[in-house]
Amino acid sequence: MTVVQEFLKANEAYAAAFQQGHLPMPPARRVAVLTCMDARLDPARFLGLAEGDAHVIRNAGGRASEDAIRSVVISEQLLGTTTVVVIHHTDCGMLTFSNADLRAKLKQELKADADDIDFLPFKDLDQSVRDDVATLKASPLIPDSVDISGFIYDVRSGQLLPVT
Ligand code: ZN
Repeated sequence: MTVVQEFLKANEAYAAAFQQGHLPMPPARRVAVLTCMDARLDPARFLGLAEGDAHVIRNAGGRASEDAIRSVVISEQLLGTTTVVVIHHTDCGMLTFSNADLRAKLKQELKADADDIDFLPFKDLDQSVRDDVATLKASPLIPDSVDISGFIYDVRSGQLLPVT
């Protein structure tokens, strides 16, 4: 069975027991979480979120990229969220490469030019959280009334630690 076939099988069981079809679109807890796509992170579980509670915006690193800001703006302006939580994590893949590394790999393997793409890797985990919180706070598209804070999730312990 391919992974897609496995998905369809799992979804049949899920839909058979599904009871959340009544939920409204705006997140009940008025919060957007920006975090990494890492497979070990299950934000719903480590934050105690149920369906309908929060927007969870994920990308490589949980970075405040242009596209992440696009989602945050829609979350706040159109769907009523008032809090943003940035969560990076220990052992993140983004700590393991540089823009130059990935650009060289793309050039070698695909003959593709990615010189104008910033893949947003980082070398300092605490600083990357501070940088992304600062980027969101500085955005003219996000009002000062939005509460923005940053955390690191520890993939070994499951703990969420504030970054100040
Ligand atoms: Zn990561």
